[in-house]
Amino acid sequence: MENALCPECGRKLLVDKCLSETDAVMKCKHCEKTFNISFDEKTFPAKFNSFNWGAFLIGWIWCLFNGKIWLGILLFLMRFFYNDFNNIPHIVLAYFVFVLVIGINLGRKGNKIAWNHKEWKSVEAFEKAQKSWMIAGIIINVLVFVLAFIRG
Ligand SMILES: [Zn+2]
Repeated sequence: MENALCPECGRKLLVDKCLSETDAVMKCKHCEKTFNISFDEKTFPAKFNSFNWGAFLIGWIWCLFNGKIWLGILLFLMRFFYNDFNNIPHIVLAYFVFVLVIGINLGRKGNKIAWNHKEWKSVEAFEKAQKSWMIAGIIINVLVFVLAFIRG
């Protein structure tokens, strides 16, 4: 994939906002400036701005592999220790609100986070990977739900 470089410092630009398959507002973290960049060929996924279901459904593991390691560890630990506190209603409620808010935020920003995290070989490779995360998210959540149901 073609990289866009900062006109001022030459570092790699990150996508700030995708406008179309060929245009984006891109940001240089170093200079803290944004630039409107147009590519000659299709560079971004058509659904760049759509919701990332994998990030929403299994943020605790999705984050670890898509460049949000500390958030992933936090979500993972919360999930792990959740059972120790699940007899306290306020904590249960706070946990679900927190996970839901983080999840929606991750879903909305997921494609941007994942796209900026690494060099993708192609738009198709990116789409395929994020689709796999979505399928994994559905399977894992169904399994968790079924197990919780069986255990009562
Ligand atoms: Zn720069």
